[in-house]
Amino acid sequence: MTLSATADVVVVGAGPAGATAATLLARAGRSVVVIDKAVFPRDKCCGDGLTTLALRELEHLGLRPSMVPSWKSVDAAWLRSPSGREVCLPLPSDGIFAATTPRRELDAALVDLAIDAGAAVHQGNALEAIRPGSESVEVDVDGAGTLTARYVIAADGMWSATRKALKVGEPGYLGEWHAFRQYARNVTGPAAERLIVWFEPDLLPGYMWSFPLPAGRANVGFGVQRDGRRRVRDMKQEWSNLLQRRHVVEALGAGFELEDRHTAWPIPAGIDRATLTNGRVFFVGDAAMATDTMTGEGIGQAVLTARLAAEAIIAGGALDADGVAERYRSTVRHHLLADHKMSALLSKVLSHELGARGAIRVLASSGWTRRNFARWMFEDEPRAIAITPSRWHRHPFRQPGPYQPQSSVS
Ligand SMILES: Cc1cc2nc3c(=O)[nH]c(=O)nc-3n(C[C@H](O)[C@H](O)[C@H](O)COP(=O)(O)OP(=O)(O)OC[C@H]3O[C@@H](n4cnc5c(N)ncnc54)[C@H](O)[C@@H]3O)c2cc1C
Repeated sequence: MTLSATADVVVVGAGPAGATAATLLARAGRSVVVIDKAVFPRDKCCGDGLTTLALRELEHLGLRPSMVPSWKSVDAAWLRSPSGREVCLPLPSDGIFAATTPRRELDAALVDLAIDAGAAVHQGNALEAIRPGSESVEVDVDGAGTLTARYVIAADGMWSATRKALKVGEPGYLGEWHAFRQYARNVTGPAAERLIVWFEPDLLPGYMWSFPLPAGRANVGFGVQRDGRRRVRDMKQEWSNLLQRRHVVEALGAGFELEDRHTAWPIPAGIDRATLTNGRVFFVGDAAMATDTMTGEGIGQAVLTARLAAEAIIAGGALDADGVAERYRSTVRHHLLADHKMSALLSKVLSHELGARGAIRVLASSGWTRRNFARWMFEDEPRAIAITPSRWHRHPFRQPGPYQPQSSVS
């Protein structure tokens, strides 16, 4: 196939970030061409967990739970402290505050939204080269032609080929986290229904998780921060060790079976130093190192940064590239910078066993702390809301959740 087109915007990558940007821009009447080197539905190494932030953004985008066959809403989070103490954090019932959905299905549903909005999505087409200009940008698509656009949104993930081609990445960058995931079936223990986070003493400030999926399946994995000491190549060994721990086996049920193969992938969490714009090229999602540095969750941040980039382009128009870029950078700063710093601080607390035990003791101390911590953990309010008055509103931790019952029926 030969691609040769002029568009208002070319989006590189059709994961949650790229599909969001494409949908919003196409709905606003911009001509949008999306390229992704993969063919959807495709897997993405991920925990498949949707935070409240992600859910609010996805609802705003128009994604309905019924569009994702294996969607599972979650009503509580179970934490296990390094001391073995278990705490249940209930989530409110007026909406969906946490959910899981296999990325294979979620990302395909988001690509469908972009296509329905009018974006031209070319799958199996990778960015090969990029030539920025003052009026437009050219993108060479692996032997398939050249696209020309006013703006390019680089949503091509952790290893962003766009970042590399423009030489704006950090040489040798490997991400702040490395995480490991495998699906399990025949899960008959509490993990069939419970979202569980295990703070294992030897993983801190990392953690192990089991996120429930329908039909006795679960997404199980663990993530470790790259602190310069932990050798990531030991993860396979660590994985079989973790899976033998008694509390893990009890949660999954003795007969659980691992599906297929494990996958591992880095997680970029450096929004405070990421290159967000380069002329008419805007980086979003993992390509902007936007994941939460305390939890490694990045779907909500991917959708949020993509929305901010799309809104900046829609508001600023085709000609004022500098103004559009500044608008994007400043809204990202407003929405994410203070939270990133707060997450980095809290990560330090969680890096020691005593800190993690103390934090879980405090949050378990009353019904109020349990309820509100759960909402805070799932990013219902920005991490640093307490110290950013510009983002205060009248109902902190009291606003109804996304997907209110009356609106969630397809
Ligand atoms: C093990 C693990 C567990 C995680 N768990 C969670 C979780 O539970 N919840 C959560 O919120 N986050 C989680 N994350 C983080 C989350 O997966 C990412 O933050 C999220 O996928 C970022 O979305 P994105 O659209 O920016 O990038 P991606 O989802 O990576 O999409 C990038 C797209 O770009 C395409 N692409 C790449 N190169 C090119 C190219 N040259 N040309 C064209 N296309 C290209 C890819 O094919 C891909 O489709 C986890 C990450 C890992 C590794």
